[in-house]
Amino acid sequence: MNVKLVNMLRRLFGGKPVPLCPTCKYDWRSACDNLDRPHVTKCDQYEKRF
Ligand code: SF4
Repeated sequence: MNVKLVNMLRRLFGGKPVPLCPTCKYDWRSACDNLDRPHVTKCDQYEKRF
């Protein structure tokens, strides 16, 4: 299931969202300059890795 959808449902039901970065294709070296990586739970640049 899409991790963004999972987080939306978790927020809806009061749960803690999961980090997006481990499944994001930009989660390596300098591909992403977000200083909060790898703990980001909301991100406009997120793209699924696989
Ligand atoms: S683009 Fe967003 S989700 Fe992807 S690695 Fe960077 S901070 Fe994480």
